Amino acid sequence: MESKTSILVIYTGGTIGMINDLETGMLLPYDFELISKHIPEINNFDYDIDSYSFDPPIDSSNMKPDLCVKLATVIEDNYENYDGFVVLHGSDTMAFTASALSFMLENLNKPVIFTGSQLPIGIIRTDGKENFITSIEIAAAKDNDLPIVPEVCIYFENQLYRANRTHKYNAVNFKAFSSLNYPVLAEAGVYIKYNKTAIHKPNFKKLLVHKIFDTNIAILKLFPGIQENTVNSILNIKGLRAVILETYGSGNAPTDQWFIEALSEAIKKGIIIVNVTQCKGGAVELGKYQTSLDLNKIGIISGHDITSESAIVKTMLLLGSNFSEQKLRKLLEISIRGEITL
Ligand code: ASP
Repeated sequence: MESKTSILVIYTGGTIGMINDLETGMLLPYDFELISKHIPEINNFDYDIDSYSFDPPIDSSNMKPDLCVKLATVIEDNYENYDGFVVLHGSDTMAFTASALSFMLENLNKPVIFTGSQLPIGIIRTDGKENFITSIEIAAAKDNDLPIVPEVCIYFENQLYRANRTHKYNAVNFKAFSSLNYPVLAEAGVYIKYNKTAIHKPNFKKLLVHKIFDTNIAILKLFPGIQENTVNSILNIKGLRAVILETYGSGNAPTDQWFIEALSEAIKKGIIIVNVTQCKGGAVELGKYQTSLDLNKIGIISGHDITSESAIVKTMLLLGSNFSEQKLRKLLEISIRGEITL
């Protein structure tokens, strides 16, 4: 007899499972029972659905690398026993955690679908119900007995995205995420239409889980008027190993001598600097304008069209892997999980 499709729901917290505190009125995470009580429909699926809850569940603003490790470990420990995973997570840092998981889970051959909501599950107009139910459907979807989406994704408001391409761009719309540099992987209407050419194919290799983050990194976001001592204090942080330099447009930056010299000195000291555009669509093209030529010359790495969220977690995990500087620089320039278009 064929066994039933099985899904593990991992509840980390987030608005989907929050309730208003009676005294203060503030939204606080509540347990998974609340969610299952409000979505009895999940019992109607012909799948075996189990759950695992973070204790305590968190607002995703409290997400940290060690909790990403915990999440990846739950998936690793249960990998052989389930066909797919649904992760309920707050939307605030979902793009970071889901991107991190995409890098942590090498050779992932099963769906890991992150979702959540903008309104708690107990509110009549909640978006959580559809998000959760469709995520289960997607995590369970198979074609010729193979999972249709064997990668880490975010499902929100009818759209399925590659996780490491996403950015939370709206705090109040039900459509909270964008993926401007990579097509939507599926659209849910009456049918769920999969964009199969855009989705990773399974590679049938053994899952490898990378768990070491080196958090000695910083973001340096440019703005007109940024001061020399601001730049210098960031570049001279004790123990700093890498900087995500958020530049303008197609990777442009001021041409002031003090600025280029400060970056160049940092690179000579072995600090990795990755150029990521502040734009949510389009890519860094070093040398397109004169204002990016020097960055290229001094050895800044082009992040191409990577999101800042992905660049941060990818860099932390690669630093944690103890690669040589040369190998690290190479891996940052290329796509390792579909996070960059080349
Ligand atoms: N603050 C909440 C969180 O990220 C927001 C949400 O869930 O959408 O946990």
